[in-house]
Amino acid sequence: MEPNLPFVEPSSTLSPVQLVGANGAFWAAGTGVLFMDELGEMSLRTLEVLRKPMEAQWSRDAAQVPQTIGATNPCPCGYHGHQSIECTCGSARLSRYQERFSGPFLDRFQMGLVLGREADSVAVPWDEMVFKLRMAQERQRARGPWLGNSGIPLESLIQCAEITREAMEVLNGWHKKSGLGLRALHHAMRLARTAADWGQRAKVSEQDAWLSISLHASQFRFTSKSGPWGLARSSST
Ligand SMILES: [Zn+2]
Repeated sequence: MEPNLPFVEPSSTLSPVQLVGANGAFWAAGTGVLFMDELGEMSLRTLEVLRKPMEAQWSRDAAQVPQTIGATNPCPCGYHGHQSIECTCGSARLSRYQERFSGPFLDRFQMGLVLGREADSVAVPWDEMVFKLRMAQERQRARGPWLGNSGIPLESLIQCAEITREAMEVLNGWHKKSGLGLRALHHAMRLARTAADWGQRAKVSEQDAWLSISLHASQFRFTSKSGPWGLARSSST
């Protein structure tokens, strides 16, 4: 949507220094997009050093850092959770793979999605999609000089997000049960605000709050033998 901004796709074999060092790929992305494909192939050390610069996305330095997007398979063979093809990884290998994505690392992402192997066909015409996106961006720009809802300074979040009391109760209830830190609640508030912008609603509704929760990256957290993808899978079984 912003053709003038850089789009950087670093190799998963980059060392921590090549990724986040002074001249690393992270900074080369400027205020554009850093797309990290095959996150599961990156070394544990690289994943962990990413935490600090990613944190800057929601700090006062947010204007200097890229939007980070990561993608990975659910397991080394790629079929964990697949409806018809069996995963051949074995539990030890699967655990080793999934445990690499620590809670603190996943907390750096504002949202997480499970993508189906077969494209889920949601027939939204491209023109309509772009129109809705532009309208949502307009709303966000009118809110302040920062880059989108993820850039709203923390001290302005409550005032800018305009979350109804009912929606805030939904978010607070989820946050209390989740056992996650305050960062998770702030991510959910921002995402709920974006959902409302997408629907052209001045105030964040309960529906926006529920959508935001369902997209929270904590659903990928490794909590049991069902794996970090357990929640997403249980919703489809
Ligand atoms: Zn597998």
